[in-house]
Formats: sequence, C-alpha cells, structure tokens
Amino acid sequence: MEDCIFCKIVRGDIPSFRVYEDEKVFAFADINPISTGHTLIIPKRHSRDLWEIPEDDLSAVHLASIKIIRAIREVLKPTGVACVQLNGPGANQVVLHYHLHLVPRMEGDPELPVATWEIREGDMEAVKETARRIAAAVG
Ligand code: 5GP
Ligand code: ZN
Repeated sequence: MEDCIFCKIVRGDIPSFRVYEDEKVFAFADINPISTGHTLIIPKRHSRDLWEIPEDDLSAVHLASIKIIRAIREVLKPTGVACVQLNGPGANQVVLHYHLHLVPRMEGDPELPVATWEIREGDMEAVKETARRIAAAVG
C-alpha cells in the first residue's frame, strides 16, 4: 500500500534494522523499543490485521517467530519473551499493517501492562453465554 509505513519498510523506501527476511516475511527492530531486542515481524504483502491476513502469510509470520525467538534467547538470554499482536485502533493498533511484536523481558525490566492485568472472578453465566454466541458464529 502506497502510504503504509511498513510497506515502505518492505520496499526499502525507509530504512530499518533488518533481523530476518524470507519470501513472505520481513522482521526488523522496533524504533521505539519497549525493551532491548524488541522486534516486529510483518508479512511483506499488506494486510491490516488478523481479520484480513491470508492464512499463508499468517503462518509465515508465526513460523518466522520461532526462528527469531530462538535467536533472541541465544543472544540476549531473556527471562521471557512476550509475543504481542494488536488488532484495530480500539486495541491500540497504531500501524495498520499486521505485525507481531516480540518483546524480550530482561531481569529488572518494568512490568508489561498487557501481561499484568488484574485477575477478577467472572460472572459465569455471562462468560458461558458469550462463549456460546462466539462458538455458534465460528465458521
Ligand atoms: P502497534 O501499536 O501498532 O502494535 O505498534 C506499532 C509499532 O511500530 C510501535 O511499537 C512503533 O514503535 C513501531 N514503529 C512505528 N513506526 C516505525 C518505523 O518507522 N520503524 C520501525 N522500525 N518501527 C516503527
Ligand atoms: Zn502495509
């Protein structure tokens, strides 16, 4: 897509620090890293989000994540790696080109808000009813 910043990165129109590339996938360092080694993996073909991405591109991104998370473990020796993927502005997706964040967690890093939500007991009737409605709609 002409104006998409990640498509520009794939085309080399704007620079990036490449971590991995294959026929379908491009991975590069996030320029505003939450932690050392924060990496983004994207399909080369533009898709906005999980609703839109074709299955082959989705598989390619997530298969690449295995290679990259292994390399991150080898190089950075993190205590963990958060894989974060946001869909839609309502979920704080800012760049509307599908991307998977790999966020290495190092000793002493501040908590990741997305990984530390408060656990509260659910209303089991509401949980059950919503699950039933979603299950009925799964294709
Ligand atoms: P989102 O909130 O959409 O999941 O995250 C978008 C991510 O893309 C952010 O972490 C942001 O730092 C990163 N980002 C935005 N523009 C650029 C850019 O031009 N180059 C790189 N390498 N990362 C970017
Ligand atoms: Zn794009």
